[in-house]
Amino acid sequence: MESEITDYFPSCYIEVIDMKCLDCDYEEEVEADILLECFEMTNDDFPSCICVNCNGDNLVPKDVYDQIKGNFIYKLKK
Ligand SMILES: [Zn+2]
Repeated sequence: MESEITDYFPSCYIEVIDMKCLDCDYEEEVEADILLECFEMTNDDFPSCICVNCNGDNLVPKDVYDQIKGNFIYKLKK
């Protein structure tokens, strides 16, 4: 039998998302599939993963990070 299954998944097409930790500013690229799995396990408005740097669960997409940190810093400093 020929192995056609390996050709079925195009390995070059892996979507990655830039993530950043709200606690320690650690940055990591996470595959969209993995992020989606994390998202399905939470009830939050945005997906978050475990940060391998500080072991917190506040690794969020950079867009979310900028939104949260932007508002947060604004409120804190002014
Ligand atoms: Zn962290």
